[in-house]
Amino acid sequence: MALKVKVDRMLCIGTADCVAIAPNTFELDDEAKSVVKKQNGDSDEKLLEAAKVCPVLAIIVEDEDGNQIFP
Ligand code: SF4
Repeated sequence: MALKVKVDRMLCIGTADCVAIAPNTFELDDEAKSVVKKQNGDSDEKLLEAAKVCPVLAIIVEDEDGNQIFP
């Protein structure tokens, strides 16, 4: 499966937990908000883990058909 991720910038508070877990996918921009720099830079497991540790649930995970599977 190739999960897709999006970041809700209105929710992100820049804790960088997602960057720590999936550094090939997420990075903080100059506003200290997480952005997706590359889809599928990390494994699906890491993408889901990153979404689950986000304290404000700002990371939206979709399956390859575009169905939201988290949160
Ligand atoms: S873990 Fe959540 S709040 Fe923290 S930087 Fe990533 S998206 Fe933003």
